Amino acid sequence: MKNIVVFTGAGISAESGIKTFRGSDGLWENYRIEDVATPGAWHKDKALVLEFYNQRRLQCLNAKPNAAHKGLAQLEKKFNVTVITQNIDNLHERAGSSNVVHLHGEITKSRSTLDESLVYTINGAELKIGDTCEKGSQLRPHIVWFGEEVPMIEIACRIVSKADIFVVIGSSLLVYPAAGLIDYAPHAIPKFIIDPEIPPVNHLENLIPIEATAVAGVKILIKHLEKLRD
Ligand code: NAD
Repeated sequence: MKNIVVFTGAGISAESGIKTFRGSDGLWENYRIEDVATPGAWHKDKALVLEFYNQRRLQCLNAKPNAAHKGLAQLEKKFNVTVITQNIDNLHERAGSSNVVHLHGEITKSRSTLDESLVYTINGAELKIGDTCEKGSQLRPHIVWFGEEVPMIEIACRIVSKADIFVVIGSSLLVYPAAGLIDYAPHAIPKFIIDPEIPPVNHLENLIPIEATAVAGVKILIKHLEKLRD
């Protein structure tokens, strides 16, 4: 079976009711990124940061995977599919995708501020001041904040470099290093980009832009892929 690597951003979850990040003047759900999603923000006001992610977690738990998430899960019947996502929601997993790499962390998990190998699944929607790891230190959201290293990026680059077909869905390709992943796709392979506003990627060879929302675009993608099966 051919390897399909799908790189997804906030746009794939838009039709599940989760807003994209650039959709609202660079604000994320009315918050400035510097106030809620950086190490400096955590240092300054832990309660505000926890509250921001508690809201995001609740929103994620109440959202449902849409037909784009489900369509990608269905592709596993015919292809080896790996989803590399910038999203912190768990809609790919809930749609049934079995290989999901989260570049920017997972909203449903917390991690120790003392020992980053201690990662826990959060029970319910809230993480509070005073919630501690087994070594007694405050728990933080298991999220890669702006300005932090992206530990999964090397693994992701390796996965993209072995793709037979590469697909980007709903990413503005503005947040680095994640956006640089597209340059690791082998030159000769077909590359699909699904987005109502196709980002500037003119340098890519064998590009097939699908100017559509994720739900409509994945339907079109599946028709193209029928012709590319082994
Ligand atoms: P972005 O918000 O920068 O870009 C979103 C892209 O999605 C844009 O190109 C836009 O044209 C496109 N889009 C909008 N509606 C769409 C639709 N219905 N179907 C398909 N595409 C659509 O997103 P990004 O590039 O992923 O970067 C944002 C950062 O913020 C990420 O690092 C992510 O961690 C975080 N974030 C995550 C979520 C989530 O987990 N669902 C939501 C917002 C932001």
